[in-house]
Amino acid sequence: MKKPPKNISIVIPCFNEDACLNVLYEELCPVMDKLSCPYELIFVDDGSTDHTLETILLLSEQDFHVRWLSFSRNFGHQKALKAGLDYSQGEVVITMDADMQHPSALIFDMLACWADGYDIVDTIRIDSKQSNCFKTVSSRLFYRLMNFLSDVTVTEGCADFRLLDRKVIEALRGCREEYLFLRGMVSWVGFHRKQIPYQARMRYAGTTKYSLKKMILFAICGITSFSIRPLRWAILFAAFFALLSITEIIYVLYAVFISGQAVTGWASLAILISVLGAVILLMLGIIGEYLGKMFMQCKNRPEYIVRSENCSSSFNV
Ligand code: UDP
Ligand code: MG
Repeated sequence: MKKPPKNISIVIPCFNEDACLNVLYEELCPVMDKLSCPYELIFVDDGSTDHTLETILLLSEQDFHVRWLSFSRNFGHQKALKAGLDYSQGEVVITMDADMQHPSALIFDMLACWADGYDIVDTIRIDSKQSNCFKTVSSRLFYRLMNFLSDVTVTEGCADFRLLDRKVIEALRGCREEYLFLRGMVSWVGFHRKQIPYQARMRYAGTTKYSLKKMILFAICGITSFSIRPLRWAILFAAFFALLSITEIIYVLYAVFISGQAVTGWASLAILISVLGAVILLMLGIIGEYLGKMFMQCKNRPEYIVRSENCSSSFNV
């Protein structure tokens, strides 16, 4: 490598990943040892209910590179990533999943890009044929909608397997968001970025922690955290239906006073009332979504709560 970093932090969020952690550790260590620079592996236990924390503690007893922090409850993948970034000390930080879907060997390519002067190295997932068809289609739909509706651009297939330079971590540290969408934040902060493709592997063990409900909430979070465009669309919608209502009023007046066939307008009136009702509710929902976010953000609660940790002085050992 042209210029190895002074030190590297690897951040791994874990939620009930007991069955994957040892295999991941075995895969990561030879890669990190080859880099011949100091490193730390930060495992973030996101309120797991299985033996994830015990496994991490065992690893940390055997290997001083293993650092960890444990949340007081499940705060979600994005908060776990953010906590890992906040506690990391490396000049370069790489975030990756615990389920082996992110190939550790790609770390070499990421570091090569960093050495070329890039501050952020994103990885873009190339879906394999085995990939879940529903997930592929829904993810494609989400990125299209997100890029259409919001002000930041997130590449389709962009994964939370990325390299960040210390400069970027410092910029992200200042961003305290109740509804965190890191892919968007990383795009929003700017800096020099490079994207490299990777073939996603199958999850080694366990099941995905992103249920359909979580995925939909994540998508809404991604869109509403980066744009007020849906609110503007609501105004356009409202203008369109207001125009439609004016036409309807003119027609009703005509039916009552000129043609004298007032009853014939019933069907169109009924349709218009139900359409208007639905549109008004939709717009109230959109406004409510933003208002709710403001309400939660105003509370100014901590982003996450750490129950215990062992992350201090990683590179003084
Ligand atoms: N994860 C987490 N907290 C959660 C959900 C997930 O820390 O509430 C972690 C999980 O352990 C994994 C990563 O986030 O390391 C990605 O989750 P998963 O593999 O389930 O998502 P998918 O790859 O299916 O999108
Ligand atoms: Mg996964």
